[in-house]
Amino acid sequence: MIRFESVSKVYDDGTTAVDSLDLEVPTGSLLALVGPSGCGKTTSLRMINRLIDPTSGTITLDGMDVLSTDRVTLRRKIGYVIQHAGLFPHRTVVDNVAALPRLLGGDKKKTRTRALDLLELVGLDGRFANRYPWQLSGGQQQRVGVARALATDPPFLLMDEPFSAVDPIVRAQLQDEFLRLQGEIGKTIVMVTHDIDEALKLGDRVAVLRTGGVLAQFGTPLELLTQPVDTFVADFVGGARGYRALGFDRLPGETALTPHAPVKLGESVRGRGWVVVVDDTAQPIGWVDGSRTDTASVATLHRTSRFLPRTASARELLDGALASPGGALGIIDADGVFVGVLTATTVVGSVQGVAA
Ligand code: ADP
Ligand code: MG
Repeated sequence: MIRFESVSKVYDDGTTAVDSLDLEVPTGSLLALVGPSGCGKTTSLRMINRLIDPTSGTITLDGMDVLSTDRVTLRRKIGYVIQHAGLFPHRTVVDNVAALPRLLGGDKKKTRTRALDLLELVGLDGRFANRYPWQLSGGQQQRVGVARALATDPPFLLMDEPFSAVDPIVRAQLQDEFLRLQGEIGKTIVMVTHDIDEALKLGDRVAVLRTGGVLAQFGTPLELLTQPVDTFVADFVGGARGYRALGFDRLPGETALTPHAPVKLGESVRGRGWVVVVDDTAQPIGWVDGSRTDTASVATLHRTSRFLPRTASARELLDGALASPGGALGIIDADGVFVGVLTATTVVGSVQGVAA
């Protein structure tokens, strides 16, 4: 757990960068710190690993006051990822990752093996190990930056605009991979970004700062989208909030599926509309249009529609229902077995209380 209690930073020239900030980051969760340029995001982050000391207030890591912890102990526990990765240009990729463990007295062979494992974890195979940073793309450098931050296996991770310097497609890829990685490693993370979509996508909780380092709102992505506290937050969060909120919402447990009798290949669908076709293990393989064909066959199978579990986000369910040829989304259980359908109307009806 990382906790900020009334933390302020006033720079020597009188600039108040952070103003009485209170935050809590539960263990294993990711807090996204977001806001316009100059609102105090980087300052807030750097006070955690004491690159900057607060003017007043207290920051604790698992109850330990950072100001009473020596910097070496502190930095061992805190991985730090910055924009453009900040790699040592004259060291190879693997040496970049192994640098801190080596500095802390780690055995050469062991730290190298571990560095190679970490590179693998962030999606870089052995080919990259002996290259220099300039021989990598921006996205690859950023991955090395993440691997390096994880080198001492720190419980805490700080990330300052980690994905901002790469193009949008690579960026989305890095974000997806990072979500998967965090699912495995479960670090306690504070990530700074100026991109609200990135904050909403990656953050378990999001803190929106306004200029002057004042906390405007602190909540889950769904809360920010559905209940922005004021026009600053609403404007910052941006348009189509209701629709975007669906991406963070789940159907209430009581939402009933519409019963639907599936068929197997070779069975009759005569007189029916669109019908779900399942295989021998009751897993859906597509839809067949009973108004145009009599029998379900491979040739008449419409295979492109998706089948989703009911626990998918409301946005995926709605999208699936709208894109499905039968006007309803086929729902599967945890074993992939077809259990019924959901219409777009049902999805919208179930969530409209929240997303309105
Ligand atoms: P952000 O990361 O949100 O863009 P920063 O934390 O870098 O914001 O900066 C917050 C405010 O503090 C800005 O107004 C910035 O100009 C100011 N600032 C940052 N570093 C210093 C410094 N060393 N001395 C004086 N002012 C600073
Ligand atoms: Mg910054």
